[in-house]
Amino acid sequence: MEINFRNVSFSYQLNTPFSTAALKDVSFDIPDGSFTSIVGHTGSGKSTVLQLIDGLLIPEKGHIQAGSFQMNSGSNAKHLKKFRKNVGFIFQFSENQLFEETVEKDLIFGPKNFGVEEKIAKEKARKVLKIVNLPESFLQKSPLDLSGGQRRRVAIASILISDPQLLLLDEPVIGLDPGSKDEIMNLFSRLNQQGKTIVMVSHEMDDVADYSDQIIVLNAGRISKVGSPEEIFSDESYLRKEKLRLPSAIDFAKQLKKVGFPINVSIKNKRELLREIKKQFEIKKDKK
Ligand code: ADP
Ligand code: MG
Repeated sequence: MEINFRNVSFSYQLNTPFSTAALKDVSFDIPDGSFTSIVGHTGSGKSTVLQLIDGLLIPEKGHIQAGSFQMNSGSNAKHLKKFRKNVGFIFQFSENQLFEETVEKDLIFGPKNFGVEEKIAKEKARKVLKIVNLPESFLQKSPLDLSGGQRRRVAIASILISDPQLLLLDEPVIGLDPGSKDEIMNLFSRLNQQGKTIVMVSHEMDDVADYSDQIIVLNAGRISKVGSPEEIFSDESYLRKEKLRLPSAIDFAKQLKKVGFPINVSIKNKRELLREIKKQFEIKKDKK
């Protein structure tokens, strides 16, 4: 699903003494099928962007096009309900939203709400549990008896069960152990390869570098830069200015170069780092 923001501004508690301008004149495009990451300081407006895309918030100025839906200051909530069926929003600490006695009941809650027959919803629950790599026996377990990483995967499954075309992820792996993090990020990558558009807010620069094809940098409610990982991460003084960390693979490549190892530092992730190191070994072998 393609998304376009045109001169979008948004303030919380508009027309009150507490009014906060969260986004100011923001324009960008998210291509259909892309994996776009939104990065920036706490308070820069990242979660606000996701909520605007989902129609949970309405622009104060400007307009948003998401698929065939237009949203502007005049949009009403009813019109947006239909749109939201195609969007899966995975909130920060999404496992906190599990509330049923069993995993199965949590999974079928959404589909049943949209009028899907119970038997079909249960079949979907069985299938979606497999997609997030949990055993079928978990269907009858209480979410409370699962580990943090497993609960997060159930919460993600409860969104994927509706097969949304667009996934909005707000810090999807925050607070998880490294194993669960990798597994969940690989899942999103697979879903993206299958054609789903993904918009992810994250502070994990390694994930951002590994998976995104576009990065949007926000600073105090304004667009700072939009570009590919290569474009964003190649400019170290810019990253310092924005207080963004260098992905560890790029950082390591630069340190290797500093100690005299001949390496191309225009890489974006671990895969490319390994490829570059291997290349150097092969050059050495050929010279022998
Ligand atoms: P981020 O996700 O980048 O941390 P947010 O989009 O949550 O940033 O917030 C952007 C700005 O809007 C911040 O100044 C924040 O304090 C303010 N803000 C966010 N949510 C609310 C809210 N519900 N009420 C009032 N102000 C808010
Ligand atoms: Mg946020």
